[in-house]
Amino acid sequence: MRIGHGYDVHRLVEGRKLILGGVEIPYNKGLLGHSDADVLLHAIMDSILGACALGDIGKLFPDSDEKYRGADSMGLLREVVRLVKANGFIVENVDTTVVAQAPKLSPFIEEIRKNISNALGLDISCVSVKATTEEGLGFTGEGLGISATAVCLVV
Ligand code: MG
Repeated sequence: MRIGHGYDVHRLVEGRKLILGGVEIPYNKGLLGHSDADVLLHAIMDSILGACALGDIGKLFPDSDEKYRGADSMGLLREVVRLVKANGFIVENVDTTVVAQAPKLSPFIEEIRKNISNALGLDISCVSVKATTEEGLGFTGEGLGISATAVCLVV
């Protein structure tokens, strides 16, 4: 068994869609990034790659590569799963936290879990997605960005 950890941050800006865990969430701002900026899936991918010591998403999908402009992070996650499988690893479970002052994420958590469990080929009971605020403190608290952390177990 091996454990992995991932962390990511994206800036919130006007004129972008807010996509978390492959779900488009109604909000007046979205996350800025070269891809769709799905901060949650980015943290999950880095946790899986980290557990397998296979680098990180910056190395795999460089933002200098036009191929990944506007990329669907769900597709990237599926690519990561293929890569770790090819290296003999299977993801067992993931546990994640999204840190956002707003919007409220609880109505979307089940759909997000479903998306992630499909991409990872896991039962939904092995995919945990939690959301929290930082009580108005720091960049997430001020609504300047959203961060996400993920841990996973692979065998
Ligand atoms: Mg990212």
